[in-house]
Amino acid sequence: MSQDRSEGDLRATGLALKHDREWDYELDRIVEEVADRDAETVGLQFPEGLKRRGPAVADDLRDELPDDTQVMISGQPCYGACDLDTYLMRRTDVFVHFGHSPMKESDKIIYVPLFSNVDVFPIMEQALESELPAPDEDPEVGLVTTAQHMNKFDEMRGWLEERDYEVHTRKGDERLTHEGQVLGCNYASAEVDADQILYVGGGKFHPLGLAMEHPDKKVVIADPVNNAVHVADTEKFMKQRYASVHKAMDAERWGVIFCTKIGQGRWDQATEIVENNDDAYLITMDEVTPDRLTNFGMDAYVNTGCPRITTDDGPQFKKPMLTPQEYRIAIGEEDLEELAFDTFHGTW
Ligand code: SF4
Repeated sequence: MSQDRSEGDLRATGLALKHDREWDYELDRIVEEVADRDAETVGLQFPEGLKRRGPAVADDLRDELPDDTQVMISGQPCYGACDLDTYLMRRTDVFVHFGHSPMKESDKIIYVPLFSNVDVFPIMEQALESELPAPDEDPEVGLVTTAQHMNKFDEMRGWLEERDYEVHTRKGDERLTHEGQVLGCNYASAEVDADQILYVGGGKFHPLGLAMEHPDKKVVIADPVNNAVHVADTEKFMKQRYASVHKAMDAERWGVIFCTKIGQGRWDQATEIVENNDDAYLITMDEVTPDRLTNFGMDAYVNTGCPRITTDDGPQFKKPMLTPQEYRIAIGEEDLEELAFDTFHGTW
């Protein structure tokens, strides 16, 4: 049985890849766990960019598992470990979540992380040459990365230390599995004693939030996927947020979204708004999309689910979509200058 697969197509996740990669789906581990638990039903959940690999993984498992084991694939959207398909999970004896590191362990769930095999060191070298001060000027540097590059984290740290940097790392809170790991909604691992943070990872999705959350630090992006070095610049992004808040200031009727995805619920924040505003209505939903909100006809919305929906997809919504703090600014409870990135802590 071959465990290695090529062609992880991550286009739909925004992580366009310009290099080959090999994925290890850890089929032996899954087969063992199924046998240990006498499981009759197995659920598989893949992130968007790997869904096309789902049938082939199911085929390989069906070859190895007893004939009467039923293998099912989740068709729900999946963008993180916050997004487990709880319906399928309840109906299967073993549930396998691919592509994300655990947000919360459970006996029933097998998490299979999928790591990138891209070489990170050439782009780190470029970042050092062009954006980080030499170690004799300022040796203190924070190091963070995403779950996809976590398998190289110790090597990255060693590589920087060999070049005389003092590398500061920490594990964030319980929403994060690994030291130095960041999520699109949680940058607690960057709270280190260094004025600059080196982010090694693909795209601008994570480092922009990181730079907003830590405006006092210089965030240098070494992107091995697109082979580019940048310094995170939040200005354009902040202008967008200010514009949304301004537009929402005249709103009379508010839709307050409570997201039913297992790791995205902020019930207290959602209900607090509704309890204090007679013109606010609690709307529950899993996927938060512009189409699903149109028929409610509210003047503005507050999203208490994934903050990236608000910040990254915000302009696609027909009415202003705010984070909980932006709502407080729009109704005059907080000052615009206090606007901060909406982060998510804890699990469920
Ligand atoms: S809530 Fe956090 S972990 Fe979940 S999809 Fe959004 S950014 Fe990612």
